[in-house]
This record gives sequence, C-alpha cells and structure tokens, in this order.
Amino acid sequence: MIKLDVLDGEHTKYLDKVINNKNNARKTLLKYVQDYVKSRYLVYDLNQTNLENIGESTISLNVPSTKINAKYSLLHMYNSPEQYAKEYLKDIKKILKEGTLCPYCALTEAKQIDHFLPKSIFPEFSLYLPNMIVICTDCNASKGNISINTTTNTRFALNPYHDINIYSHDFIVCEILPPFEAAKFNIKIIDDLSQVEQELCLEHIKTVAIGRKIVTLWRNYFDELAKRLEKIYIKKYTKYNNEEMIEKFKEIILDEIDTKSIDENIIQKALFIECASNQPLLDYWLNVFEEQHKI
Ligand SMILES: [Zn+2]
Repeated sequence: MIKLDVLDGEHTKYLDKVINNKNNARKTLLKYVQDYVKSRYLVYDLNQTNLENIGESTISLNVPSTKINAKYSLLHMYNSPEQYAKEYLKDIKKILKEGTLCPYCALTEAKQIDHFLPKSIFPEFSLYLPNMIVICTDCNASKGNISINTTTNTRFALNPYHDINIYSHDFIVCEILPPFEAAKFNIKIIDDLSQVEQELCLEHIKTVAIGRKIVTLWRNYFDELAKRLEKIYIKKYTKYNNEEMIEKFKEIILDEIDTKSIDENIIQKALFIECASNQPLLDYWLNVFEEQHKI
C-alpha cells in the first residue's frame, strides 16, 4: 500500500478559505462549526492513532444562536453546485493527489475523493483534509460509505495517514493454490503486527475487495510469467537438471520484484514472492514445458 505524507496545517487554511468565501449568515454558521469541530480534530489528529475513539457525530444539533441545522448546512455546502465549492474541491484534489496510485490498493490510479469518515455521518469532517483521501474508482465503489462501525468503534479500512505502522510493513502474504491456471488464493497477514492490526488489515482486504483484484492480477501475470520461464527452459534444458532449472526460475521471478512498480506494491510483491517459493507451482511449470517440448 502507499502511505501518504502527513498533511501540515493545510486543513485549517482551507477551511478558512471556505469560510471567507461565504456571505455573512453562512460565515456565522461556519465559524460555529469550526469552533465546534476543533475539539473533534484533536481526536482525529494526525499524531493520534486512536481513530476508533472518534464516536458518532453530534453535529446534527441545532446551532443555539441561529437555529440553523449545522449538519444539513455543512452537507449542503459540500454538495453545493456553487462555483466556489467546485473550485474548492478542485483545489483540494490537487493537494491530496500526492501519488498517482490509490493508497488503498496501490494498483489503480487514484481519481476520486473518499471521505474516510463518511460525510453523511461525520459532516464536520467533510471538509477536513486528513479525512479526504484520493483513491481509485474501484476501491471507492467497493468501500462505499463503510469505514467505521460507530456502535462497536471498529474500523473496516486502513487509513493511509493514520496507520503508519501497518503501512511500513509488506503485510500481505498470498498463498497460491492449484489449479494454477485458475488459482485459488489464501490471503494472510504477517505475524509482526499486533492482533488488532492484523484484524484491521483483514477487514481492509474485505472492504476494498483485494481478493478480487488478486484474481485479476494473476490472470494477467500467469501467461506472461510462464512465457518468460519457458524461454529459459528452451535455452537451458540441455544444460540444467530439474533442480537447477527450478533455481533459475526462482531467480527470474525474484528479479522481477526489483522493478520499481512491483517493489512498491505489496499485493504484486506478495504474489511474486509466493511464485518464487511455491514448489508445486514451479514443478507444474517445469512439467508443462517438458510436455510441450518433448523430443
Ligand atoms: Zn484502489
């Protein structure tokens, strides 16, 4: 996955910008909202890892002095077709788009803004930059509004700003099971993480449908990798015994990982590491080549 760099106070600047663009009546409301959410920002602070304690929003209460429903107004402001709102969203998309790859799956280009805490439940974070993550359309569709269970205070997805410890690991282990042409996959999490972190990773994998993405990846790689190994087989089968041939296969697969795109992507990396260490798979390929090139 791709960890995002910590944002530095930009969120305050941008909320100010929105407030300053509004007429007086809306300004009063937004100032109230800003003061109100300050305490909640402390909970959703970048230095805190305890996102679980955020609890459900209470912002649906009316603003006492103006009798305006803050939740409704904040949502309206976000969804507003007014020009300033469009410009604001365009600006923040630019700021948030640090890399081109989606930080949830690291496989597809990130194009849409996801509100980690859904804006319908947590409207006070709807314009809060660290709550806005640019992800790919596929992960956004899989994730929907699900990210936190406000009853149990458990999360369903990793947060690339908060879960720094998890993001510093290649945490996915992927076992490839036969039949290899249409393989089944057993996805596990490395033991180095705590029980809670492991459970969160598994939830994330379910939420953004990593299993489905692995099946697609394997479809793309299977033939391509087989072709590459077959070339080596043809070139070397008179010189190598089976054991040496398998060693050569492993070397070629592991060399692939060093290419930048694979080294940066923990799903692709897990798949290649597994290929290089899965003896039944390597034997399978060797048998196929032997069959095809029988004299
Ligand atoms: Zn994605």
